[in-house]
Amino acid sequence: MKTRGDTVNRIGEFGLIDILKKFQHLPPSLVKGIGDDAAVFVLDKKRYQLFTTDMLIEGVHFLPGTRPVDIGHKAMAANISDIAAMGGVPKYALVSIGIPVRTGQRYIERIYRGMMTCADAFGASIVGGDTVQAEHLVINVSLLGEVERTRLVLRSGARPGDRIFVTGPLGGSFRSGRHLRFTPRIRESRFLVEKFKPSAMIDISDGLAGDLGHILRQSGAGAVIDEDRVPRNQGAGLEAALREGEDFELLFTLSSLKAKKLLEYAPVGRAFSFIEIGEIVPGRNRLFIRDRRGHCRPVEPKGYEHF
Ligand code: ADP
Ligand code: MG
Repeated sequence: MKTRGDTVNRIGEFGLIDILKKFQHLPPSLVKGIGDDAAVFVLDKKRYQLFTTDMLIEGVHFLPGTRPVDIGHKAMAANISDIAAMGGVPKYALVSIGIPVRTGQRYIERIYRGMMTCADAFGASIVGGDTVQAEHLVINVSLLGEVERTRLVLRSGARPGDRIFVTGPLGGSFRSGRHLRFTPRIRESRFLVEKFKPSAMIDISDGLAGDLGHILRQSGAGAVIDEDRVPRNQGAGLEAALREGEDFELLFTLSSLKAKKLLEYAPVGRAFSFIEIGEIVPGRNRLFIRDRRGHCRPVEPKGYEHF
């Protein structure tokens, strides 16, 4: 097919999103548009509204034969995870679904059971949607959330000297099936924004290197990650942790003083896991991995991309 301009596989997923930014209109009530885990706009004097969306397609995000309740869980949980990454709580969801003609009614009900159970667990509700026929199963959830203005965390606030943390082990998510059954880190996020207020935060959907890359680009900073400190799932190597994605753990940064306090805060050890893995440094968008002898090697701050 003849095309005008480049093809999407040459520009890459994030190159394309950058191009699409020119279509974005920025009214004064918008605090953050394209470029974070959710859009942010004014709700009232004390709160911001959060707005996010995520689409799952059979064959890309889950394989044919996946349990419908797991598909539903993942569709809802991936959106809730983006609200967690902003420091907020999820509220109202719209669910659009494209269904092959011969799909059973029970199958769709099971998907909804999975979505509803997940939404319920975090105080969110399904309030509408759209239903169409499609070649393959497609589910799109759009989710509204809220956050107190003082608790909003963007990707752009990381500063040299800040410490980098993750909320759990990374890598091997697709192979192990964890990408279907993860817990969105709302509780961890709310604890953090209430007690420590991270300087930047994102959820790991595209791999540690890619998602840290987003924080670095938006913050105008670099980072050093200590190879030995990156928590990994069983059977997952460093490359898997850096590039595979769909871990849906939170990645966040804290000033060194707050980092020290977080690690000393006794109840945390019991309830949550916060693992320090490195440090923000000067140097726009430069990412280094430090081995146990202290040698640093540069790695590309890129993770999984769809194109
Ligand atoms: P996440 O992995 O947190 O869901 P994405 O990587 O999907 O975020 O998207 C990054 C940013 O780009 C988000 O702010 C998102 O709203 C925006 N974005 C993604 N796709 C599009 C699109 N097709 N049109 C406009 N904005 C988009
Ligand atoms: Mg995200």
